[in-house]
Amino acid sequence: MTKPVPKDWILGISPYVPGKSAADDGRPLIKLSANENPLGTSPAARAAVMAASADLATYPDPGANLLREAIGQAHGLDPARIIYGTGSDELLHIAASAYAGPGDEILYVRYGFSVYDIAARRVGATPVIAPDADYATDVDALLACVTDRTKVVFLANPNNPTGTMTPRADIARLHAGLRPDILFVLDQAYAEYLDANEDDGGLDLARTASNVLVTRTFSKIFGLAAERIGWGYASADVIDALHRIRAPFNVTTMGQAAAVAAIGDTDWTDLSRAHNARWRDWLAGEIAALSNHGLRAVPSKANFLLVLFDGKLTAEAAMKGLWDEGFATRWLPGQGLPNGLRITIGTKEQTRAVAAKLRAMAEAA
Ligand SMILES: *Cc1c(COP(=O)(O)O)cnc(C)c1O
Repeated sequence: MTKPVPKDWILGISPYVPGKSAADDGRPLIKLSANENPLGTSPAARAAVMAASADLATYPDPGANLLREAIGQAHGLDPARIIYGTGSDELLHIAASAYAGPGDEILYVRYGFSVYDIAARRVGATPVIAPDADYATDVDALLACVTDRTKVVFLANPNNPTGTMTPRADIARLHAGLRPDILFVLDQAYAEYLDANEDDGGLDLARTASNVLVTRTFSKIFGLAAERIGWGYASADVIDALHRIRAPFNVTTMGQAAAVAAIGDTDWTDLSRAHNARWRDWLAGEIAALSNHGLRAVPSKANFLLVLFDGKLTAEAAMKGLWDEGFATRWLPGQGLPNGLRITIGTKEQTRAVAAKLRAMAEAA
């Protein structure tokens, strides 16, 4: 029997693995596996969703005008050069589609965000993976991997799943070393967790450079992952290309309203940033105290820690032990990190419970 045959590059894709919310036996778990905001959503954003739900019969504003204005004001950007997506995931995919195809190469670092591999293969492009430097970005290694076929470079900063930060000077050097016809996609999904003096300069670059696309999301610090909203900033030409292939009405009415309210609620983001920094650094200290048991946390600027297990306690055993305490974390064998567990920073109580369980398991192993 003949049947439709997907393109061979589609069959080469390993589907995205979402963070677990249950143990293998179905027990529901607290998710410390998807880098969501443990404090939830800003009350103002929740109220905006409720108000916007009054009208479900009409399509959303196709131009997301209020949202683009709010983002433009918050960051000093030209609203005409802001694009919005069904999560920033949509923007990563359409950036790959607009600028690469079969025969082209899409470049990113080892232990980069897993969506980059899918975005590259989906359009028939060849993923090229540059070596890391102790889990962080190695700008020289990335530049050494550029070929005549390179069309897009993806870099998350801070990076997921490592949490590592590529400093502003390195971002500038990477950009300066890329041919101007290569689109540099700087994925700032965790940028709102940084202190102001840690900014990597991506939006400044995107203001003037013709080949830089910065992407942001409302899924992380803003606590709106359920609404699926992201945005991007680039030159007018890049934005024009992306608009041609984004889905029409790609951000819902409730999502647009929620995002506008969330941008305005800086008390909520300040609280979330301070909570995260405090408990991330506390948990990193607890892990450091277990170094004699082979545990090590990669230095993180995001809302999670990548913990490496190189002693008797394995990452897989630690993940399963944490299930017993009611927590889902992210074990990463599929991303080349069989010894790595990515743990989202939870509430104070959750973070303390995770640390206590890790200590108990490490000492008993
Ligand atoms: C979470 C995440 C995103 C975005 O997700 P959306 O929910 O699609 O906006 C993008 N990049 C990285 C590196 C992430 O971790």
